[in-house]
Amino acid sequence: MDRAPLAAGRPHLLAPARLVLLGTMATGTLAATALLGRSPEVTPHRSPWLLVAPLVVVVLVFLPFQLPRSSGGVVVSLESGVLVYLLLTVDTRTAAALWLAGVALGQVSFPGRRALRHRVFNIALAPVAGLTAAVVVELLDPQPRAASPAGLAVTALALGAFVVVDLGLSALMLSRELGTPWLPEVWQSYAGLAVLILSCAGCIAYQAVLVTGLLPGWALAVVLAPLVALLVLGQGLATSSRGHWRAAQLYEAATTLAAVSDPAELEPTALRLARRVMDHGSPVLRPEPPAPDEVGAPLRLDGSQQWLVARSDHRPGARTGDTRSLAGLCALVEQAQTRLQRSADLLHTASHDPLTGLANRRVLLERAATACGVRPTPGAAGLLLVDLDDFKGVNDTFGHSTGDLYLREVAQRLRAAAGPDDVVARLGGDEFAVLVLDRRAGALTATAQRVLAALHRDVVLGELLVSVGASVGVTECAPGDDTTILLTQADVALYAAKQRGKGVVAVFDEAMLAEGARRVRMLAELRAGIDDLQVEYQAVVDFSSGRIDGCEALVRWTHEGVAVPPSVFVALAEESGLIVALGRRVLEQVVSDMPLLHAAAGRDISMSVNLSARQLRDPLLVELVGAGVRAAGGAAFLLEMTERVLIEDDVATLAAVQGLVDTGARLVLDDFGAGYSAIGYLRRLPIHGIKLDRTVVEGTDVLPRRRALVAGLVALCGTMDISALAEGVETDAEWAAVVELGCALGQGFVFSRPQPLAEFALLLRTHGEDLAAARATNAPVPTSR
Ligand code: C2E
Ligand code: CA
Ligand code: CA
Repeated sequence: MDRAPLAAGRPHLLAPARLVLLGTMATGTLAATALLGRSPEVTPHRSPWLLVAPLVVVVLVFLPFQLPRSSGGVVVSLESGVLVYLLLTVDTRTAAALWLAGVALGQVSFPGRRALRHRVFNIALAPVAGLTAAVVVELLDPQPRAASPAGLAVTALALGAFVVVDLGLSALMLSRELGTPWLPEVWQSYAGLAVLILSCAGCIAYQAVLVTGLLPGWALAVVLAPLVALLVLGQGLATSSRGHWRAAQLYEAATTLAAVSDPAELEPTALRLARRVMDHGSPVLRPEPPAPDEVGAPLRLDGSQQWLVARSDHRPGARTGDTRSLAGLCALVEQAQTRLQRSADLLHTASHDPLTGLANRRVLLERAATACGVRPTPGAAGLLLVDLDDFKGVNDTFGHSTGDLYLREVAQRLRAAAGPDDVVARLGGDEFAVLVLDRRAGALTATAQRVLAALHRDVVLGELLVSVGASVGVTECAPGDDTTILLTQADVALYAAKQRGKGVVAVFDEAMLAEGARRVRMLAELRAGIDDLQVEYQAVVDFSSGRIDGCEALVRWTHEGVAVPPSVFVALAEESGLIVALGRRVLEQVVSDMPLLHAAAGRDISMSVNLSARQLRDPLLVELVGAGVRAAGGAAFLLEMTERVLIEDDVATLAAVQGLVDTGARLVLDDFGAGYSAIGYLRRLPIHGIKLDRTVVEGTDVLPRRRALVAGLVALCGTMDISALAEGVETDAEWAAVVELGCALGQGFVFSRPQPLAEFALLLRTHGEDLAAARATNAPVPTSR
């Protein structure tokens, strides 16, 4: 018999297995010496036909039975039958010599079918088991008479002893090699089958002895039939069990791979499974395809083409089966890889902002929830809300693709400014957040300052140099805070930062909440008092004639006895949508005041009214503006809009603006030079004039670069037939400068402050025709303050 443990595939033979191997070899050598050295006690029954016996052993070794085992296969072959035959027909020494020669020849004849150590083990095992069988025969019946019940019993006992030793030692070797317990290994499913097969082999051998003893030689053919049947069935069993085993291995591999959740685990798992699926040939993963004596299948791992390769097995049909197994395994591994990739992609999409790759709001809130759960160092951990101060202008002026590039750059700068453990997120639009997870006191405000500094540096986008800056609201994590509190506080702080003039960091404190409440109250009161709003008028001077060309209407609100600056309440109204009602109120007031002003001036004077973006969507606007145009009579009715309103290039805005111009109103660009001042839309839009912002006018008398800028803008307007008005002229020197630079109109404290209707009417009456001259000579001019 020949049993070879197959479930190996380990790179090194384990030390205990090596001990069993060495022990078996030593015992085998001793047993062989004993067997071959024993003197013959029966009459030698020699025939040249006996030389066929080793060849039969070789054939039987070549055609083994492969038995299923829970991991790996076990090989059993029928050569013990030949031993039984020989022990019953010739002297022990000859029997042993012939049989051992056959086994050795069989084991060395087919290299590559099994590992060297298994072949060595099998060669060493043969004399041990053989001697055991011989000893039983010798002890019980040194002169075997086969054709008797006693002979049959002795043969059965000898074969039994052989099987016990053979099976036991093989199981021991197998268990050492696999690291499994020895006894359960003996009782594995294959053991019973092995005993059955070996008994059959013994019976056939015994029948052969009877036939050759009693009948002529030809009768041996009768024994051949069951032998061939057994061998053929054995091969069938081997094939099917191997196929079954392969399928089982692949099922198991599929289950194992389905459970892999870490992509880094995929390669080691694939290799481990390949060793199980192959059970021999030590599979490896490498870029080269298999050599002729190897089997393999292509495997695409992490985008690189690899091959799962193993040494080829020479058993019949093994090559195809092995290749299929490997290909099946590779398909399963690739499938697992696709699954992991998909779920990683999904996870990333679900948790990241697609434009910047930053975390999204959900991730930020999750991390914030855990961060506030532990007691942080004071001043170390917290939330920064970052809002770009004028991002809309970038988008409007340079287009959305530039806006996107800008946001990406912002994201990078935020990452660089934040600490390695901090979470940087984009909450939407131009709003970002940094969850600071530092442990050092003071880290929170330090990070906020770094963020602010990073965002205030100019951004170079191709040939453009853009700078918008940002405001940052900061709040500290306190134990027990939930994310809603944290976000609200950071939001309140951000609002405070914007209120403080943008481009600053504001740290949340309780007073801000009071401020927020005050704002809410103020808004409610503004809403209630919309009809009580006042309008003041500020003179616009025509430099060529020195007379008052017209005026700008400026809204005024007195709240709790105090005059609230328009920068505060107009902004409040814009945020809340109340600006539509406010705008209507101003237009109505202006329409009703105009006759009085015209009467005071003795002629029709132009009237300028400020418009906010949201008013463009007011369905009553066209009607109100039409009334203004009619009230202005022969003079111009001007609508002042900031560039921000007009560069919103959408169709609705352009249509609304055109609708207003169609009523006869004229469009004036307010605060020109303060924002982006892209010149392009001056040509696209029906613009009548620009108002140079105070920040441009200021210092024109002393700053050469300012002068050059104003001169350039005025010249540009000249080429397009657009009037240029200098706004916020405060000093005589500035006045002289803007006149010299070519501005046609001027407005500012140096001429007149905004005044209530009656006072402005008085001014029109007294100095409507000579305000410039009166100012130049410092003649007393009526003024409200
Ligand atoms: P604006 O349209 O640029 O109005 C000119 C502002 O400059 C006025 O401030 C005016 O008082 C001020 N000003 C005039 N001359 C000088 C000067 O020589 N030096 C300085 N430093 N300032 C001067 P005001 O009245 O506080 O209005 C602020 C802003 O509020 C306005 O800026 C405008 O954007 C908005 N606003 C005022 N009235 C309305 C309105 O009825 N509707 C809308 N939508 N916005 C309005
Ligand atoms: Ca204005
Ligand atoms: Ca202005």
